[in-house]
Amino acid sequence: MSKPISVIVIGGSHAGLAVSQKLLRQSPRAAITLINPSDEYYFNIAAPRFLVKPDSLPSSKYVYSIPAAFHEYPAGAFTFVKGLVTNIDYSTKSVLVATSADQTADATSSYSFDYLVIASGSTTPATLGQSGVKLPFKPTAFEDTRKAIQEAQETLKAARRIVIGGAGPLGVEIAGELAEAPGSKKVTLVSRTKVLLEEATKPVQKQAMSLLQRKDVDILAEVTVDNAEYETDSKTWKVKLSTGRVITADAYIATTGTIPNNEFIPKSCLNPQGWVQVDEQLRVVEDGVSRSDTYAVGDITCHPYRLLSRVSLQGETVASNLAAAIAKKNHVSTYSAEAQKKMMVVPVGQSTGTGHLGGWTLFGCLVWFFKGKDFLTYEAPKFLRGQMT
Ligand SMILES: Cc1cc2nc3c(=O)[nH]c(=O)nc-3n(C[C@H](O)[C@H](O)[C@H](O)COP(=O)(O)OP(=O)(O)OC[C@H]3O[C@@H](n4cnc5c(N)ncnc54)[C@H](O)[C@@H]3O)c2cc1C
Repeated sequence: MSKPISVIVIGGSHAGLAVSQKLLRQSPRAAITLINPSDEYYFNIAAPRFLVKPDSLPSSKYVYSIPAAFHEYPAGAFTFVKGLVTNIDYSTKSVLVATSADQTADATSSYSFDYLVIASGSTTPATLGQSGVKLPFKPTAFEDTRKAIQEAQETLKAARRIVIGGAGPLGVEIAGELAEAPGSKKVTLVSRTKVLLEEATKPVQKQAMSLLQRKDVDILAEVTVDNAEYETDSKTWKVKLSTGRVITADAYIATTGTIPNNEFIPKSCLNPQGWVQVDEQLRVVEDGVSRSDTYAVGDITCHPYRLLSRVSLQGETVASNLAAAIAKKNHVSTYSAEAQKKMMVVPVGQSTGTGHLGGWTLFGCLVWFFKGKDFLTYEAPKFLRGQMT
């Protein structure tokens, strides 16, 4: 058989797994090295449910072994490396990988590639503990995911007065869960805009507002959180609002802000906001020119709507283009963010919710059926195995 072609995939979450699995099925010559700081796949989508209601879902529904998901491929086709890429060197076509959190020289290794896929995604201020309580909304490098989840569950269980800053899907979902949690919590949701779910259709915005009000969530509209500080003496958060009011809370949850995981990516490949520039084939664009050896996929790209629902099609596009390039075929797949139908499905508590598919508003029972009953965890094994279309 012809020589294997080395493909390095940076990031082992939804997007990196989609490309790896789909490419292995299409290209017998691809030898994939998947690099991720944890050997576990974290289905973060269900975080609003299991962080607030720990008994509602066992961890086996949202944490999976990554290497075990690649057992069926022949030896040499797939290698997993637990590490964090710290540099891309195009002069040697290699990446530098730190294999522990301290990133000392003796804990680094170098891997060379023919093709590179950047799937390093994004994180949030809450995940990093930069704003409000530390909540693992996304995976965190080298951290024990289960421990981070357990600590967050304990923090939320103990909190009685909770302020949520940001009324997008995550803010609304977590408010709905908290309103149903035991211990009669006082939940306040702070929305920068007059409506909740700014990106949704009008009926959905109204429905979200009414469902949360019925659950006694206090909604502060057209207000922003200026600052939230933790006072160690009183063990409370002082949440300062744009109106001048200061709310004392046991927990402040920031649900706003998306931060690109881009520290290792050459600046020449990033847009001014720090996201990777890509062309319609999802090839990385460096200084205005498409690279033939590097693709990007998922949240890290400059495409709007950083959503899981966008990842599978992007992964298919990259896998198909890589398979064609490896086989030296002229076939080209393209991706258009605008061509994908807009949708939003937002559970508000265990049994209802709201959302839309294009212009169609979804009934609460449909939202429960598709997402609310177990927060899509039934789909996690398919994402892990790249079986979503
Ligand atoms: C709480 C929450 C709920 C959500 N719910 C929904 C939803 O219901 N529907 C929906 O469509 N979308 C939802 N999203 C958005 C969705 O999570 C993202 O679109 C999705 O995670 C993108 O996947 P990704 O693989 O591109 O990136 P990520 O999931 O961010 O994963 C990136 C991976 O790369 C790794 N990595 C980072 N840097 C490096 C490096 N230097 N070297 C090696 N590895 C690295 C990370 O550790 C991580 O494993 C939600 C987001 C949040 C935060």
